[in-house]
Amino acid sequence: MGTYRIAVLPGDGIGPEVTTEGLKVLEVLEQAVPDLRLDCREHPAGAACYLARRDALPPETLEACRRADAIFLGAMGDPKIRMPDGTEVTPQITLRFLLDLYAGVRPIKMYSNVGSPLCQQDPGSIDFVLVRENVEGFFASMHSGLVVGDQVATDTVVITRRGTERIVRFAFELSRRRKGNPVTGAQGVTCVDKANVFRSYAFFRKVFDEIATEFPEVQTNHVYIDAMALYLVQRPGDFDVIVAENLFGDILSDLGASLVGGMGMAPSADIGDRYAVFQPAHGSAPDIAGQGIANPLASILSAGLMLQWLGEKHGDPAATKAAGLLEYAVSQVLEEGRVKTKDLRGGASTGQVGDAVASRLR
Ligand code: NAD
Repeated sequence: MGTYRIAVLPGDGIGPEVTTEGLKVLEVLEQAVPDLRLDCREHPAGAACYLARRDALPPETLEACRRADAIFLGAMGDPKIRMPDGTEVTPQITLRFLLDLYAGVRPIKMYSNVGSPLCQQDPGSIDFVLVRENVEGFFASMHSGLVVGDQVATDTVVITRRGTERIVRFAFELSRRRKGNPVTGAQGVTCVDKANVFRSYAFFRKVFDEIATEFPEVQTNHVYIDAMALYLVQRPGDFDVIVAENLFGDILSDLGASLVGGMGMAPSADIGDRYAVFQPAHGSAPDIAGQGIANPLASILSAGLMLQWLGEKHGDPAATKAAGLLEYAVSQVLEEGRVKTKDLRGGASTGQVGDAVASRLR
């Protein structure tokens, strides 16, 4: 393979701090894996960029993303910086729409020594992927809801056949590749909706059932969103791949992160047919920004998802191998249990965790 062009958008708050560690690990992987070559270039975007240029996603940055093989993003947003309508800038969401990144892939995996709030959970027993529909659902109303006379506000949920078919197919294909939770043996795709009340979600479920017939070997299940919040706490090991509408997926992904050590342990990928963005599931965490205590593992694991995706897309064994090495190095550092940030009840800095993963790789 040639050189992969990676557009790097560090963003705001802890975004640049954790991105530095992701890039550090990628650099070591380039030395460790012959044939892996990355050309990583940084571009401005986010709340600070909006403040400086009145544009949170400048055209040059968007163009660089379109030209790149993959996009590696930190975190964006600052609750203190708002647009005239009172909402925050969200270029990370705008990118999903502009690049049609319809599949939000959120792996939720429990490593050793991360301290889940759930007792009786062994490492690996929680290992599922949440597939979030990323470009319609409630977010189709983004910045276009109505406020009438300062008395009534509405946003509308949009579920299309095309959008549902492609996200459900994506979930089934993923489940087929994963072959289930290796510890509990849970297998198949769970459809999460609110089909008991809303026609839009009943339609989502109907399309799910139609697509399921294309994958007769994959088991299926339906759970209402409220019950899913319960089951993810009571028996998270029962799930393999979960597919949900945008807002439900948004909420469940933070719940999932909390099961496996918090936002600092939650990588994510926003994938379309042509482009993909890889970023930690967390935000810019203004409460801890600038202190050097942010957990960089979500960013580092997102770099691993990027390598895995590049490997699959280009049939490139070097990228696939690098992805495997990265995940193994992270799991080893956690198993040793010495170098952990404050959120995992350790005392290491952001940089020390990145260094530990890098030195394990070397
Ligand atoms: P957040 O994810 O930034 O923080 C939630 C909590 O998790 C905070 O207590 C924070 O300290 C902690 N946390 C997050 N990442 C951590 C890490 N790597 N290590 C240790 N602790 C970590 O969510 P928020 O506070 O609701 O939002 C803050 C800003 O981020 C807002 O401006 C919001 O709009 C934005 N945001 C951006 C994204 C994105 O860029 N993808 C996602 C969510 C929120």
